[in-house]
Amino acid sequence: MIKWGWLRLSPLFVKMTAGSGSKRGFVQTVSITTTDGYKLSTLRQAVVKLLEPLGGIAAFISSGERVLLKPNMLSAKEPELAVTTHPSLVRVVAELVSEAGGIVLIGDSPGIGGFLRVAEKCGIYEAARESGAELVEFDEAVELQGSGTFRSIRLARAYYEADKIINLPKLKTHEMMTMTCAVKNLFGAVVGTEKAGWHLKAGSSRQLFARLLLEIYQLKKPTLNIVDAITAMEGNGPGSGDPIHLGLLIAGANPVAVDVIARRLAGIPADLLPIEQEAVSMGLPGALAEDILLCGTPVETISESRFRLPTGVDVQFGLPHFLTRALKSHLTSYPAADPDICILCGICRDACPPGAITIQNSALSVDNARCIRCWCCRELCPYDAMKIKTGVLLRTLRLLAGTKNC
Ligand code: SF4
Ligand code: SF4
Repeated sequence: MIKWGWLRLSPLFVKMTAGSGSKRGFVQTVSITTTDGYKLSTLRQAVVKLLEPLGGIAAFISSGERVLLKPNMLSAKEPELAVTTHPSLVRVVAELVSEAGGIVLIGDSPGIGGFLRVAEKCGIYEAARESGAELVEFDEAVELQGSGTFRSIRLARAYYEADKIINLPKLKTHEMMTMTCAVKNLFGAVVGTEKAGWHLKAGSSRQLFARLLLEIYQLKKPTLNIVDAITAMEGNGPGSGDPIHLGLLIAGANPVAVDVIARRLAGIPADLLPIEQEAVSMGLPGALAEDILLCGTPVETISESRFRLPTGVDVQFGLPHFLTRALKSHLTSYPAADPDICILCGICRDACPPGAITIQNSALSVDNARCIRCWCCRELCPYDAMKIKTGVLLRTLRLLAGTKNC
């Protein structure tokens, strides 16, 4: 049964499904495949099927190349929680690359918890062992010349010096950027605590942060992106949201195009995606739907989704700019620790880019005036103790709007 009512309303998507091609002459191919779950045998078949329209894994790597797989290893959480890329997908891709003659490395720079501990907890340590891949922690950086807005950007040496990158993001909602998928996953190439410095530089500008992510992508382009959207995450992602079963794999050489399709499959409006908006304004290939050719499972046969968005995401409700500015404190959400859960470990305070969090007299407080709403504190709190305090007016408008995406 066709359940793509929302997408049928979009003329661009109609064009895309028709494979009308790009007026600008560069078509980005994105492949979609459905699959039930993470059972190794069926997952392998699904990945092979997914890559067929793209030429198979051999189209992306050559024998003897050092191929780095970059999964999402945000924190030490079990695979079922959908915080990290599922280890079965990592293992299947590692085995396919190895069979094609590649030397497989698996690496990331987790936000918290230590690389090996995260790898063990999320199952990627075992996936590496079973597939014969080498785990590499991103602990040393190389300085690179920025390509536009930023003079220089430091990326992990292991990431930059690999012959090929295969990006393995998890499709999740994201409190700062609304959605994290292929482009955002590459922020993991920034080594450890240097991530906080970039949040501070971007401040509360989601557009500037999106531009940074797009420039990171351009400094070292992944050769292939395979999205784990079998069990994705909705709600208060990327660390505390709810798993949602989509049963989908999405792949393509261009992470911008892959994200455009992932965003549509998740039913998230384009105007909430700063990465997509910036990619359009930068004129990047893959940012426009008319440049994308869909292959594999026809979207008409996929049930429509509409992800619950994070509570912290700004929704403008069409209010005039002057009113939004005047009522900012009532129209904005800020973090606030739940004293019944918070154990005052100080992890959020130490990670907060502008130093907006203090712990004094056995109490944690957030200085809203300094807070840039990067939500790192919520992402990194191991106890899910940092909650969201929503302004009264914002709560009322959401109630009136009455939709789960607001
Ligand atoms: S909110 Fe979480 S990370 Fe911050 S001090 Fe409390 S328990 Fe630790
Ligand atoms: S308090 Fe939290 S959301 Fe605000 S700046 Fe610090 S880490 Fe970011």
